[in-house]
Amino acid sequence: MTMGRFRLGSILGFEIHIDYSWFLIFVLILWTFTFGVFPGFYPELGPSAYVAMGIVGTLLFFASLLAHELSHAVVARRRGVEVEGITLFIFGGMAHMSAESETPQDEFVIAGVGPLSSFVIGAIFAAIWWVGRTLGWTEAVTGVAWYLALINVVLAVFNLLPGFPLDGGRVFRAIVWRISGDMTKATRVAANGGKWVGYLLMAFGFLQLLAGNLIGGIWMIFIGWFVRTAALGGYAHHLMHDVMKRVRARQAMSPDPDTVGPDLTLQEFVDDYLLARRHQAYPVLADGTPVGVITLGRVKGVARDAWPERRIRDAMVPAEEGILVGPDQPMDEVLEKLRQSELRRVLVVEDGRLVGIITGHDVAGWLERVRQLEGR
Ligand SMILES: [Zn+2]
Repeated sequence: MTMGRFRLGSILGFEIHIDYSWFLIFVLILWTFTFGVFPGFYPELGPSAYVAMGIVGTLLFFASLLAHELSHAVVARRRGVEVEGITLFIFGGMAHMSAESETPQDEFVIAGVGPLSSFVIGAIFAAIWWVGRTLGWTEAVTGVAWYLALINVVLAVFNLLPGFPLDGGRVFRAIVWRISGDMTKATRVAANGGKWVGYLLMAFGFLQLLAGNLIGGIWMIFIGWFVRTAALGGYAHHLMHDVMKRVRARQAMSPDPDTVGPDLTLQEFVDDYLLARRHQAYPVLADGTPVGVITLGRVKGVARDAWPERRIRDAMVPAEEGILVGPDQPMDEVLEKLRQSELRRVLVVEDGRLVGIITGHDVAGWLERVRQLEGR
């Protein structure tokens, strides 16, 4: 779904990124506005007016989307849910939260503010349209304002559909969560809603196709498919975090890993460890205390002719760089550390002693076994 992205800038302290898939929807909307919507609604204007209206309208449309996502981000931050940033992509915008809401009230407000802000933006454009018409502005201006009012209201209504992960689905989840006290059950119910909203959108898209609306129909089918996929994926993601919260590092680690000393030269490390054994990385122990991790990547970062003299302690990732966890730390925290660390592994340390290592590979394998056992 995502194709790589670039940074646009930052607003209110949130990083804004644009996914490359966004250009497709940008061109499609620019095209539709310039050659379809505006000439259709306002036939008396000239081609240069349509081009200007198309460009301004498209930019304001995406500004509206961005404002919608910013409203989620601002409210989430105020409620203590960390937001990593916002990405615009082919199906709109996404505010990335690093964690799920702690309470149904948080979830309700963080999700609900999105459609609310779209309604407000729609009302602002409607007011501009009304003022402009009263003062006799050109249709090139009032026309754009009117259409943006319309589109923002449509956006708000669409987002209120009760299917997770749409905003309405999140509001729905918050309500079920509040009533049942069970977030996993609420997520399942709301994700089911998302699945069905997805199928309905797809069915609606097929009807559009039959009615001869090719682009609109295909578009609707794509969006339906996306909502359905995101609903199922969102539920799986939630389950994983739910399981992870209850599991401790001790249960997922590989115990008693092979280790190396800090005074070994890189050449010795390459010959006796990297080429002689099966791991890519080794914890470094000094007098029984874990002091870092040495990896194949770190060795490669040192010029080959320096390998006979340089020691592991000079090339390793030091333990201070957030690679240590306790055996009783919940796995969702461990996962977060794994995700942030360039190493993709953490050392499990108890009373200053190394007791195990956890790699992304360990977690994936462990999760797969849980999934098979629980039949999910
Ligand atoms: Zn939203």
